[in-house]
Formats: sequence, structure tokens, C-alpha cells
Amino acid sequence: MERVQAVRGMNDILPDAVHWWQKVETTAREVLELYGYREIRTPLVEKLELFARSIGESTDIVEKEMYAFPDRKGQWLALRPEATASVVRAFIEHNLHADPLARKFYTIGPMFRHERPQKGRYRQFHQIDAEVFGIDDPLMDAEVMIMLCDFLQRLGLKDIGLHVNSLGCPECRPRFREKLKAFLQNRSPQLCPDCDRRRHVNPLRVFDCKVDRCREALTDAPELAQYLCEACRRHFDKVLEYLSDLHVAYAVDSRMVRGLDYYMRTTFEVITDRLGAQNAVGGGGRYDGLMRDLGGPDLPGIGFAIGMERLILLLQQKEAWVSKKPQVFIAVLGDEAVRQAFRLAQDLRAHGVAAELAHGGGSLKSQMRRADKLGVAHVVIVGEEELARGVVVVRHMVSKEQDQVPLENTVQFLMTVSTVESL
Ligand code: AMP
Repeated sequence: MERVQAVRGMNDILPDAVHWWQKVETTAREVLELYGYREIRTPLVEKLELFARSIGESTDIVEKEMYAFPDRKGQWLALRPEATASVVRAFIEHNLHADPLARKFYTIGPMFRHERPQKGRYRQFHQIDAEVFGIDDPLMDAEVMIMLCDFLQRLGLKDIGLHVNSLGCPECRPRFREKLKAFLQNRSPQLCPDCDRRRHVNPLRVFDCKVDRCREALTDAPELAQYLCEACRRHFDKVLEYLSDLHVAYAVDSRMVRGLDYYMRTTFEVITDRLGAQNAVGGGGRYDGLMRDLGGPDLPGIGFAIGMERLILLLQQKEAWVSKKPQVFIAVLGDEAVRQAFRLAQDLRAHGVAAELAHGGGSLKSQMRRADKLGVAHVVIVGEEELARGVVVVRHMVSKEQDQVPLENTVQFLMTVSTVESL
């Protein structure tokens, strides 16, 4: 029979890898809740219009990468390519602005983009996403970045750089756009066909292009920093000041524009040189006009998303996972012993000792081989002969020493030895 395989770029997460995901998620929740974020969960499917209106019609995500399809009634839907638009939509739809406590949100889950799969880039990938509404203080921009760095540090990921930029606002960005357009017109023959088209509709996107000759063409391009209005300049200076106050290392990167149109003022990325081409671990920025543009109150917003697959690739490079193993294996000899052994296994588990019970009989030798494979510290041998005397044998797998322990003391005995050994 022909086998049905998973969709290209969409991965299973197998039991051997799942603890990485749990570790990342648990740490994320701890940190986010420490900073006052509350979880929100939105559907994976939204109306296509939501993403087209927020991310921008002429972005790569909307133009080329979205999983968009009409449903049975002909309504256009899309699998979410990112979470911000959905969280903003939910905030508006449920009038959450009426609740003064509802300011900081996070969500964790899969996103979908039809990109060419490679290491660190998939068609279904997972993000940890944080959003703050209603606060335009530059202090919040700094806090959001500091929280992101705090999270990475708690995971033990140190050599990750924080890159920061300001994209200006609707006051000052148009001036820069015109300057850039004029510059790109002169460079037109050097640009790739995509960029040559983009320079008319959305010239800032050209900074995102990975094609070498486009990058070269941009070496002496005008810099956004020189076109910021007074208010944006002041905002950005404050953000940097707050970062420095808390000794957070950053680099200002005036070429970083991010792939989504809704950003304004502060934008940032965390970058690693350990993942080849897919060097961005996470990124985000301020999007003050977005809520109003989606029909909600005119509240400012700022947020970021971290790619979980990339985080996990980095963690796996750093350390081998010591997976939780059973601590005790219970070998059984004889049918009668099975019932006692089953009871003992439950008793151990009730006391927090991870116990694995031999199934299906077999010789003591084959049971010991299995215990060896499992890597347990102790094996309890429950045999009918010993049971008749009210004892079991506890074998220490490293020293090979054996003790006869009264059945009713076995749990206590194992709890004591395993605590002493883990010290
Ligand atoms: P973005 O939503 O484009 O700002 O991306 C935020 C983060 O999500 C990136 O820094 C990546 O870590 C991750 N990411 C984005 N696209 C993909 C993808 N196709 N596969 C895996 N991770 C991704």
C-alpha cells in the first residue's frame, strides 16, 4: 500500500524531541507571567482580509506565502501567518479595552507560511507571541526587549544579538520613502525583478531582499535615522537610554525594516550566527496605527514573536537533553509475583519515583537487559521465593550490589537511595 506522508514543511514533533518544546513553553510562560502578560488563544483560521489589511498587501507574506482558500460558501479564509493581527482583532471584537487590566497578552502556537522549506524555515512553524496595547511610553519598548532577552538568558542562550531600529512614523517616513524611491530609480538596472517592482509600491521592502546584487545596490542607500521627525527621534533616544540603563547590549541597525507593513517607530530583532541563513530568532516592533486601521479604538501597540523551532535548534546545539528516565525497573519472576510487583510499581509512582514494570515475563537475564537499556539506577527483583520470605531484592545497577529489603520497606528504601544519589 502506498503510504500517506506529512505535508512538506510541516513536521511531527516526536516524543524524543517534545521535552525541548515543553522546556521552552514552560520558561516562556514563567517569564511572560512575571512581566504581567496573560494568555489569549485565537483560531488558526481567520478571514483573509484581516491579514491583507494588517500585514500589508504588498508584503511577501501576503503576496506569496499565505495559505488562503475559499470555504464551501466561497468566503476567503487564511491559515494565520502570524499572531499579532489575530490578537488585535480579538481585543477589538471583545471590547477588551474596557478592562484596564487587559493590556498585555501572549499566545503560543503554530503559524503557516508557504516558504521554501530549509533548516530553520518551515511551512508550519511555532511562535511565542507577546503584545502590549495602550501604552506608547518608550519605557514599554525597552521593557518588551528586555523581557525577550531575559527569556533567552533563562534558556541559557547567551550569544544572541539584539538589533534595534526606528522606522519613523506617518509624519516622517514618507519623506524617507521619496528619498529612497529616487535612490532606487538610479539603481534600477542592478535590482532583481521583485525589487524593481517593489521600489514603486513599497520601497522599504527592498531592504529585506536577500539577493546579493540588491544588497550591493543598497550599500550607499539613504538611512532612515537621518529622516526621523523630532518626536520619533526623542522616542528612539529614550528607548536606547532605558536599554543602556539596564546594561542591555544592543546594536542600532538602520537597514532593518522587518517584513510586515504595520510597524512604526521601534523595531527589533534577536539574531544569531549559529543558524546559517535563518539567523533571526525573533523580532517585533511598535504598531501604533494598527488597531485603528482594523476598526478598533486608536490604541498604540507593541509586540514580538519568537520562532520556537529556531530556539530549539539553538538549544540542541548547546546541550544534549538528559531525558527523564525511569528510576526503578521492577523485574518479575513467576505469575504470583506479578500482582505484588504491580502494587509496588503503583506505590512507588504514588511517592514520586518513576517506576517501569516488566511486562510479559521472560527470563531474569532478558529483564535485566531491558533494565540496562532503560538506564535505571535500581532494579527491584520480585521473585516468588523471596516473596515467601516477605522480601524483595534491590540491585544497584552500577555497583552491582544487591540488598534484600522487606517488601513493606521497599518504597522507603528506594526513596532514600535515590535521594542520596541525586545529591
Ligand atoms: P516574523 O513574524 O516574520 O517577524 O518572524 C518572527 C520569528 O518567527 C522569526 O524570527 C523566526 O524565528 C520565526 N519564523 C518566521 N518564519 C518562519 C518559518 N517559515 N519557519 C520557522 N520559523 C519562522
